[in-house]
Amino acid sequence: MHAVLAKQAQSTQPDIDSHAMARVIVFYVLTCLFYYGNGVVTPPKLKLNDGRDIPGIALGTWLGNNTKPSSNEVELAVTWAVEAGYRHIDTAYAYKIEDQVGRGLKKKMADGVAREDLFITTKLWNDHHAREEVVPALRESLGKLMLDYVDLYLIHWPCGQFDNQTYDYTDYLETWRGMIDAKNLGLAKSIGLSNFNQEMMDRIAANGLEKPAVLQVELNLNLQQPELLAYCREHNIVVMGYTPFGSIFYSKAKEDAPPPRVDDPELVAIAKKYGKTVPQVVLRYLVELGIIPIPKSLTKSRIEQNIDIFDFKLTEEEKSLLKTFDKKYRTIPQHKWLDHPYYPFEKKQ
Ligand code: NDP
Repeated sequence: MHAVLAKQAQSTQPDIDSHAMARVIVFYVLTCLFYYGNGVVTPPKLKLNDGRDIPGIALGTWLGNNTKPSSNEVELAVTWAVEAGYRHIDTAYAYKIEDQVGRGLKKKMADGVAREDLFITTKLWNDHHAREEVVPALRESLGKLMLDYVDLYLIHWPCGQFDNQTYDYTDYLETWRGMIDAKNLGLAKSIGLSNFNQEMMDRIAANGLEKPAVLQVELNLNLQQPELLAYCREHNIVVMGYTPFGSIFYSKAKEDAPPPRVDDPELVAIAKKYGKTVPQVVLRYLVELGIIPIPKSLTKSRIEQNIDIFDFKLTEEEKSLLKTFDKKYRTIPQHKWLDHPYYPFEKKQ
């Protein structure tokens, strides 16, 4: 009897395997269609220390210091980004385009994208650092964004500065207390910091205040900040990386900017191997460091290209090569606040 059953089992085994295999193939094809059908990518999410999820890539919306916003370039970029699969938009009061971001989001929500599926980050500017000014500043941003809440509100810089350009020496602990007020009111679901250093975060903790969920700092090939990343990992603070392309584009690289540029032969070879571009390899590297990159683009094809980075993985050897470009070089040093007591970076540049 056992022998007969065993024989039957043996003879049916290949069928079971082929059915299972067929199911795996169908699942794989459906997954690929879901993720990549119509060019829409679903980026992975990271967990914040307050329990919320944050999408693993964000569209940047800063036009640069010397560009005046026109009427709708960012609005268009936001709509293209949402269509391409971005669910996270990074903006700031200081960028003077929150109204455009709001219009882009409103359009996509009218097309059926749920507010709960979007993750919107904005930032408190330096001229509203007093605790009691934080909530009104956020309400102003929310008005421009046409939203009831933001998902993440960041202190843009630790350095206060009044409208007339004189320094405001308000302690950033007070500003942080204002951020906690904003969170308690439900106007910001999560709160965090931008351009703060490790000592400043230690000081927030030493004063018994809520931990930031996110730190946003410059991160790119020339500025990889391994110690800061290790600190954030240890303290469960998610890192968003701004200016992710650093100085790879000739149009943006200052004379003293170290290599690589976008045509670097070794980077081109890696990109070619995966059928990707060098900017995509750079973004992928940042993702593999555990960072949320914030590529900015106003160009539809580049917006689509920059999110299409979740279907390949760099080898250890390739990552070791990319690591060699770390030269502690800041593309955006913001020297204008060098003598502010809360200037957060090294002062040697
Ligand atoms: P990025 O490193 O994102 O570079 C943007 C430039 O790269 C633009 O000129 C863009 O051109 C170009 N570009 C984008 N994608 C591609 C591509 N695939 N191929 C070729 N060129 C490309 O710089 P940012 O300094 O803007 O940083 C990104 C975002 O980070 C900001 O927009 C902002 O949201 C945030 N940020 C935050 C700061 C902070 O203090 N917290 C400071 C600075 C930035 P184009 O637009 O013409 O396509």
